Amino acid sequence: MYGLSPSHNVRLCTSLNRTRNLFDHFRNYHHLSIYYANELFNAITNNLDPIQTKIFPSNVKINDLDDKQPCPLHNTSSESGIRCTPCTNTVTEKFLPIHLKTVHRLRLPQIKEIIKTKKYEE
Ligand SMILES: [Zn+2]
Ligand SMILES: [Zn+2]
Repeated sequence: MYGLSPSHNVRLCTSLNRTRNLFDHFRNYHHLSIYYANELFNAITNNLDPIQTKIFPSNVKINDLDDKQPCPLHNTSSESGIRCTPCTNTVTEKFLPIHLKTVHRLRLPQIKEIIKTKKYEE
């Protein structure tokens, strides 16, 4: 819908109209960039036809998943026993497991836990 294709790597919920705070939802949950979150929000609130209306051009990056975010350990105190905390680095979502492993010397179960909690918070 709205021109969304698998290449965008974004999967929208099916019951959008029932979701409150749509804009924040697109931003925080689907990681749409501000521009496209806004476009989609307008299209839905104006009841534009999802099939006819194309707001996502094909082969354009519409999310900011590759953008850097503060390391999840930025609030972790140095007393936690984890290396290099609190962390001042910013990392991409993709690079985060590697960062946690190489910089903070965490083990895989800990890394998984951190990533899980991070997703849950969003
Ligand atoms: Zn959604
Ligand atoms: Zn870090």
